[in-house]
Amino acid sequence: MSTDKYDLVVIGAGPAGYAAAIRGAQLGMSVACIDKALGTDGQPTLGGTCLNWGCIPSKALLDASHRFVETRDSLADVGVIAGNVEMDVPRMMARKDAVVAQLTGGIGALFQGNGVTHLAGLGRLLSGARVEFEPHEGETRTLDAGSVVLAPGSVPVEIAPAPLDGDRIVDSTGALAFDAAPARLGVIGAGAIGLELGSVWGRLGSEVVILEALEDFLPTADSRIARDGLRELGRQGLDIRLGTRVTGAEVQGEAVVVSYQDGSGDEHSLEVDRLIVAVGRRPYTEGLLAPDSGVNLDERGFLFVNDLCVTDAPNVYAVGDVVRGPMLAHKGAEEGVMAAERIAGHKPVVNYDTVPSVIYTHPEIAWVGKTEDDVKAAGDDYRVGTFPFAASGRALAANDAKGLVKLVADAETDRILGVHVFGPQASEIIAQAVIAMEFDASAEDIGLTMFAHPTLSEALHEAALGVGGHAIHMINRKR
Ligand code: FAD
Ligand code: NAD
Repeated sequence: MSTDKYDLVVIGAGPAGYAAAIRGAQLGMSVACIDKALGTDGQPTLGGTCLNWGCIPSKALLDASHRFVETRDSLADVGVIAGNVEMDVPRMMARKDAVVAQLTGGIGALFQGNGVTHLAGLGRLLSGARVEFEPHEGETRTLDAGSVVLAPGSVPVEIAPAPLDGDRIVDSTGALAFDAAPARLGVIGAGAIGLELGSVWGRLGSEVVILEALEDFLPTADSRIARDGLRELGRQGLDIRLGTRVTGAEVQGEAVVVSYQDGSGDEHSLEVDRLIVAVGRRPYTEGLLAPDSGVNLDERGFLFVNDLCVTDAPNVYAVGDVVRGPMLAHKGAEEGVMAAERIAGHKPVVNYDTVPSVIYTHPEIAWVGKTEDDVKAAGDDYRVGTFPFAASGRALAANDAKGLVKLVADAETDRILGVHVFGPQASEIIAQAVIAMEFDASAEDIGLTMFAHPTLSEALHEAALGVGGHAIHMINRKR
């Protein structure tokens, strides 16, 4: 078994791992990044879940399906007569695959340009920051690493009542590759994946029923926005049944028969053509750690780390979905960069209080920081400003004026505690709130900032003014 030496070895080339590898190389380290993933063409692929089976392909389908319904249902409102609008699903899928190929290839180019060695195969952490590398082709060898970053990501949770069969009962990966919209689609779980993929296929003609175990819809979002979001998604045709417990799912011929109980314990049966199981993801650590690696797991199976992503083994960091915190690409990427910079002797930290969340329905749902309910429960004094897109000139001009911006600020210091957006381009507007919170801004700071007119972002400006009771384009109740 031959041995290679690197300053940094990264296991996993998803957003957390590839960001660590690239940043490490930028800082002058010799870096190898190991990933075992194979793309749909059977060739090694980079970018992990996010680029291959997650963020990017789902957004490609969300964008395509949104344009379809918008063209079919609302363009006539603005005077554009499109005629008979049809959806070509194979073409939509081919474009999605092309976007994925472009971006995963782009990571390869970034690795090459930065001098990161891509090793295609399985990585396993040994003791003493050494890594065993088993290539897809060729002999297993040991890599001596000055430091190691573990970024093996996560995989979908499976549940016993609804075993996947890869055809009729699928996880998110299967649901990103349907060849046509099923006439009747069942989804288990009204989280990010259930709502996004339910929206995609609902827009393309599926009758969608989403079964959600919890009584509350999107419990971590602002409760007003969750309520408005539930109503709007229902109006769009998503039949979201809260407080339901799935007890079984059986393939019967061409159909899947799902049995579930509602909140009162009554039994129901639902027949669908396809069923998506989207009940969360779990950390993936299979084959990752030799018994004497020194890295420990926490009680939920995540790799145990401190706030700086340091594991229990010397010179070994862990980042991304495999460690505590929200399973989001941007959170993992920031951790990857932090780990590489710490290895290089810098002292960055990740601010976990300003991780933005976005659900890419239409309108989008986005938030950062605390909800009004969080602040109320903590007993803190606060003030709220809201602004509806129905009063936004740009949103009305664009015929896209549902939703609102809500800003929660500390009553005494006026410091922004949280921002919640349900509306067009909420994912872009929330970035402004993140920047403001990173700089410890007050609501007044945003109110004193000039926003271009007419823009959707003005809704954030007006919500901030609303905290002080002086939004310009709505009648303020507090005067
Ligand atoms: P991953 O992206 O999972 O990458 C881990 C990589 O490590 C994989 O390529 C795997 O093959 C490799 N690996 C694992 N073990 C080994 C080993 N022992 N040896 C070699 N290689 C190994 N997040 C967002 O922020 N925004 C979104 O819009 C969004 N949309 C999503 C949509 C869907 C359908 C899904 C499923 C997820 C979505 N996510 C989204 C979540 C996002 O994909 C993850 O948070 C992100 O990919 C996690 O990054 P990671 O680098 O930690 O792990
Ligand atoms: P999730 O945790 O967002 O939602 C899962 C939902 O399933 C929850 O509402 C949960 O209550 C419900 N559930 C769990 N068990 C159930 C059961 N037996 N029956 C019915 N309902 C059940 O998980 P997800 O939607 O699978 O997404 C996985 C991860 O990927 C999440 O961490 C998410 O953050 C990430 N993701 C993010 C985005 C985004 O940022 N836009 C998009 C997709 C996925």
